[in-house]
Formats: sequence, structure tokens, C-alpha cells
Amino acid sequence: SGDRKVAIIGSGLIGRSYAMLFASSGYQVSLYDIEIEQIDKAKDDIKSQLLKLEEEDEQYQLIQGVTDLKSCVEDAFFVLECVPERLEIKQNVWKEAEPFITRDDVILSSSTSALLPSDISRNFLRKERFIISHPTNPPFYVPLVEVVPASWTDADVVTQTLKLLESIGLVPVLVRKEVKGFVLNRIQYAILAESWRLIRDGVMTAGDLDKVMSCGLGVRYAFMGPFETAYLNAEGMHSYSERYADMILGIQQDMGPPERMDGPVLDLIQIDMEATVGPVSEIQQRRQWRDRRLAALAKLKADL
Ligand code: NAD
Repeated sequence: SGDRKVAIIGSGLIGRSYAMLFASSGYQVSLYDIEIEQIDKAKDDIKSQLLKLEEEDEQYQLIQGVTDLKSCVEDAFFVLECVPERLEIKQNVWKEAEPFITRDDVILSSSTSALLPSDISRNFLRKERFIISHPTNPPFYVPLVEVVPASWTDADVVTQTLKLLESIGLVPVLVRKEVKGFVLNRIQYAILAESWRLIRDGVMTAGDLDKVMSCGLGVRYAFMGPFETAYLNAEGMHSYSERYADMILGIQQDMGPPERMDGPVLDLIQIDMEATVGPVSEIQQRRQWRDRRLAALAKLKADL
């Protein structure tokens, strides 16, 4: 089963989600954490999630919690690090793990949200085998994963990682250059920046602005991106440009620079969120509400 063993380092939110996805596709998963109780928690969590998904006990049996790094990574063909988002923690984990890795054709990966692949891997023994697999939370219902190689990453690592992630039901996209924030977060933060300015300027309330996304743009975006939207809204891209490019540029030039999210505008948004979403003390219930909706949407998309 040499090509079936996946090693996951860090069994928090993301590590356990990946463990579930790999096991559901029949891979053998070795799950390690520095905190032993985290592994137990992860296994309990995975068991109840798999039950909810009506998946077999068989999948659960494929996940083995381990308490030493060596048995986690040896013989694995894919080693995925999911430890906290701090460069020195990640570098130390890899420094400790690499000597125990036995396969020359191994792929080394990290789920980092924002650290650059060249920063994590610059001192690796096998830096040409490293690539980032940045998932979207919760990965079981939101399938996008950004795959980010460093300049020194082997071409076969790129193609095999894309293939592997697709085989476990994710939708991988390749980030072809190392840029801060990759692509998903750059777009997310562009939306946040403009939303912020609109609240600051008193154009709309925060609750209504959220509706612009959830009942307007987001409904479309659940199925297609900004380019397909443009393509369909005219007779292709050139016709879209002829009709709208001047107007769009004029509006974009009206938008102004980004601001740090802080101060009275932030207070205003907090108050509006408490009124429309509910108090922070009830946020856990609201997260469950969110996850149920994401699950239903994932099902709808799969059934279409
Ligand atoms: P988490 O805090 O839930 O889990 C991290 C786990 O790593 C913990 O169980 C911790 O005990 C363990 N750990 C700490 N030091 C360790 C070590 N030296 N060796 C082994 N295990 C160790 O964090 P998370 O949300 O799962 O995030 C993990 C990574 O995934 C981060 O880089 C994060 O940026 C990225 N990520 C998170 C999200 C998200 O929404 N949570 C989304 C995409 C990517």
C-alpha cells in the first residue's frame, strides 16, 4: 500500500478535515499531533462527522492517530503539515520530520493560508518536493484548494498534487506565482476593503451590505465567477468591454485606497452585526447554521 499512505501533521480543524477527505477516498491516513489529546479529539470529531455523512466504519478505520512523528511520516507518499500559522513553528516541524521521510518521490505539503512556499521550504533537504495546498474552511463543503508551488518545486510535484487533491473531491486551482494572500484571500480582502469604504461613507448599513452579497452577487458566484458573469452579460468579453469598460473604470477609480479595519467604523459594523446576526455569545449556534447551509449548498451543487 505504498501509494496509499498519507501523513498529516497537526490534527486541528484543517488536519482532521483533510484526514476525513483522504480516508473517504480510501487512503490510509496517519494523523500526528504534538498534543495527544488533540488526536483523540480529532478522532471523535471525525467519527461523528463520518456518521453524519453516513459513511462506513471502514473509512474511520483508515485513520490512525500516532504519537510520534517518525511513524507518522515514514513510507508516506504525501506529507501534509497543518500546524498553526507561524513560520517558525512550521519550519521547526519540517526540520524534525524530514529526516524520518523515507520515500524519494514524496510530496511535502502545507495547508498554510498566507505564508509563502519559498519562505517555508528554503532550508528543506528536499525543497523541490514542496508545495502548498491551501484549503477553504470547511473543506468538506467548500471544495476549493489553492495549490502554490515555489520557483524550485518540481513540475511533477505540481501535476501530481493537482491530481491527488482532485481525486479526494476537492477542486484545486494553481497559483502560478507566489503572491501575498494567494488569490482567494486577495479577492476576499478587495471585497472587504470596498465594503468598509461604503459603510464609512454612510452609503449603506452593514446588514444591508451583507445582503448585497448573500442575496445578490453571492447567489451568482455560487455557480460562476466574475469572468463568466461578464461573458454572459454581453456577447463575450470584447462586447462586454465595449459596453461597460469606461463605466467600470470610472467607478473603480472612485474607490480610494485601503484603510486599516479599526476605530468608529468598526464599532458601527459590530453593532449592526449584533443586531442582524446575533450576539457574539451565540456565535457557535450561528456557525452551525452556516455549516448546515454550506452542506445543503454542496449537495445541491453535486446533484445539479
Ligand atoms: P488548529 O489550531 O485548529 O490546529 C493546529 C494543530 O497543530 C493543533 O492541534 C496543535 O496541537 C497542532 N500543533 C501545534 N504545534 C505542533 C507541532 N509542533 N507538531 C504537531 N502538531 C502541532 O489550526 P487550523 O485551523 O487547523 O490551521 C492549520 C493550518 O491551516 C494553518 O496554517 C492555517 O493557517 C491553515 N488554514 C486554516 C484555515 C481555517 O479556516 N482554520 C483555512 C485554511 C488554512
